Amino acid sequence: MTTPPRKRSGRTVRKNPGVASRATPARKRIPIVRPKVPRPPSERDPDAPVHIAVASPWEDLVRRDDSDRIERVRWNFPDGVNSGDTVVTIVDAREWTVTAVSVRWVPADGVPTLHRVYPHIWDGISMTALEARLGMTLPHEPTTLEPTMAQRLQSAVDDEIGRPTRWYQLPNRCDDADLDRIADTTSLWGCNACGRDRDAEFTPRFQRHVLTSGDEWPDAVGVCPSCHDILHQPSGPTFDELMYSNRPSCPACEAHQTLILMMGMPPGPPPRGTVLGGCVLTGPSFPQFVCGACKHEW
Ligand SMILES: [Zn+2]
Ligand SMILES: [Zn+2]
Ligand SMILES: [Zn+2]
Repeated sequence: MTTPPRKRSGRTVRKNPGVASRATPARKRIPIVRPKVPRPPSERDPDAPVHIAVASPWEDLVRRDDSDRIERVRWNFPDGVNSGDTVVTIVDAREWTVTAVSVRWVPADGVPTLHRVYPHIWDGISMTALEARLGMTLPHEPTTLEPTMAQRLQSAVDDEIGRPTRWYQLPNRCDDADLDRIADTTSLWGCNACGRDRDAEFTPRFQRHVLTSGDEWPDAVGVCPSCHDILHQPSGPTFDELMYSNRPSCPACEAHQTLILMMGMPPGPPPRGTVLGGCVLTGPSFPQFVCGACKHEW
């Protein structure tokens, strides 16, 4: 049996510079002199002023599918934000959300930037959750905070990053669940957002999610717990965005609006995003999907 060659890792292993290797004689080390360029701080200064800045449109700030989007974001700052100050960026998304804590940084070329500092916020923090922690209302507009409020907000943000408040611990429109009705639907169709577990032996406890879309579909859907969490992220997708993201895009027009085409007799009213294609089955194969944008069937 031979041992497989060991994979080279991408890491550079630095040998102890004081010990010359046996194969090569010690070479004189020439010190590398780098010009001192000031670097942006990796942590916020706890004593620096804290400002709230409002960014819009929130989708361009939060969605990372297109690098041009960040160019379109506009920030509204209060007056008097200086280099080194802490900036808390908030957006009016599905709900008011803190997206980042940064330090305003003016580099050598003079173009001010917002430099994200530790600890990082990944999915956005609900301002309602922060307000519940603080027992007070936060400003939802460009503001410079009083020092005491600034400190309290910073520790509340740290606490939310470490131990986030779950969405169902706050008042929400999905509280009064009609679970019997949802259990009926999901036992037939599975999670309405991802299709999960429709035919599985063991299924999660499905939950009811209430929509605000006001279209021709029912205003509540049955979803699995993980989809439900995604739907309640403060800057998360709409229900339709999440549902369509789990389906193939249209091969004709590339739209992400694919409806499931149900042929034959359905076992019950079809769920959101499923349409009936008729009871007469002809031919060996029939289309599974129909595009909501161009009506192409495949
Ligand atoms: Zn799901
Ligand atoms: Zn919900
Ligand atoms: Zn299409």
